[in-house]
Amino acid sequence: MKKIKQSWAEPYKIKMVELLKMTTAAQRKKALKDAGHNTFLLKSEDVYIDLLTDSGTSAMSDRQWAGMMMGDEAYAGSRNFYHLEEVVREVYGYKYLIPTHQGRGAENILSKILIKKGDIIPGNMYFTTTRLHQELAGGRFEDVIIDEAHDPENTFPFKGNIDLSKLKKLIKKYGAPKIPYISMATSVNMAGGQPISMKNLRELRALTKKHNIRIIHDMTRVAENAYFIQQKEKGYADRSIKSIVKEICSLTDGATMSAKKDALVNIGGFLAVNDYDVYEEARNMVVVYEGLHTYGGLAGRDMEAMAIGIKESVSDDHIKARIGQVIYLGEKMMEYGVPIVKPIGGHGIFVDAKKFLPHIPQDQFPAQTLAAEMYLDSGVRTMERGVVSAGRKTNGENYYPKLELVRFTIPRRVYTQAHMDVIAESAARVYERRDSIKGMKMVYEPKYLRFFQARFEKL
Ligand SMILES: *Cc1c(COP(=O)(O)O)cnc(C)c1O
Repeated sequence: MKKIKQSWAEPYKIKMVELLKMTTAAQRKKALKDAGHNTFLLKSEDVYIDLLTDSGTSAMSDRQWAGMMMGDEAYAGSRNFYHLEEVVREVYGYKYLIPTHQGRGAENILSKILIKKGDIIPGNMYFTTTRLHQELAGGRFEDVIIDEAHDPENTFPFKGNIDLSKLKKLIKKYGAPKIPYISMATSVNMAGGQPISMKNLRELRALTKKHNIRIIHDMTRVAENAYFIQQKEKGYADRSIKSIVKEICSLTDGATMSAKKDALVNIGGFLAVNDYDVYEEARNMVVVYEGLHTYGGLAGRDMEAMAIGIKESVSDDHIKARIGQVIYLGEKMMEYGVPIVKPIGGHGIFVDAKKFLPHIPQDQFPAQTLAAEMYLDSGVRTMERGVVSAGRKTNGENYYPKLELVRFTIPRRVYTQAHMDVIAESAARVYERRDSIKGMKMVYEPKYLRFFQARFEKL
């Protein structure tokens, strides 16, 4: 008899559905041409399964929607703020909360408070907005992630770890007073959603304590990181996601959060700190950039949805199904031989376009081409993370990044397993006819962040 599998399933049922437009191949061909073969320029309406990002694209629960009806839209002292503050203290353990409109709002305030001109901010791989705010405040980011993170073939389970010897060298070179904090992300986005281990974090805490350096936690995907600790780190198999999340936070001094990811809302974020002096300054500054400290650019109803979403996000059943779906898709793609980044991360599948389309040179945009072909085949929208995203150097030459990837990011609680089948089968179909696929040339290139608006033509 066939061995009986123990399957996961979603810990919810569906109450309302959003109808999608089904398109024909001819319609998709036209839509893609109108969009200059750039998936960012497609109209969302013309997309069947949208894997552009997991940011702000989650489905809220009935409880969150009910919470929105309980919005207290007072200018000051909204009841929803106090609820959110209570939840942040209970779930994450940080003492003081400043809500912001989204993650980058918190990054702006924190960077302005802690960074002085000439400071060094070490971190486990950069994130676009995080690094930019550090630079705008006069600091310089230094990557201290372990080397394994830069290798798509390396299957080390904690590719988000910090290389402590790299960090020690920086401390020695610049001196601890020049390092206001370590920028530590859980589930490192740019590495493909790769986790940091508790052991590494504990060692980081011991080292930073000795030198009196803060750890600021980019906790955008902390619950997803906790899942990998539970599954893969010794001593954590019997621990709840909730308790692991709290332990991670307890080893840090403060955090910035984009609630549009883990926390299951469409908009929102916050800054949370333990240090009263930092809180006091942030509370003053938030008024300038976001709004009063009891709403920070959010409506009362947004804060209520976030408070409820945070509690749902640390449920074991939720996170098991969430990451289970990502792994399901990744394994299915691997069965078809589609080359992906390993190990499978928390929030999506990253396809290795250099391996997928080895006959297309990098200056003919293999990842951009593959993203366009995916849309053409099935209406699935993905995102280029390669030479187009990397942009040009100050001397005008293209950056040619080592990683030329197409990101298939999975929104939370939005798509079904059948959708995952459609995506994997579509990738397999495109893979089957890969030899006939030609590259593209760029016919319009904007000056900044070109990947958003560049246009292409098929060669
Ligand atoms: C999305 C994201 C941010 C920025 O948050 P926004 O809500 O988009 O402003 C910061 N860090 C990481 C790791 C992210 O994924």
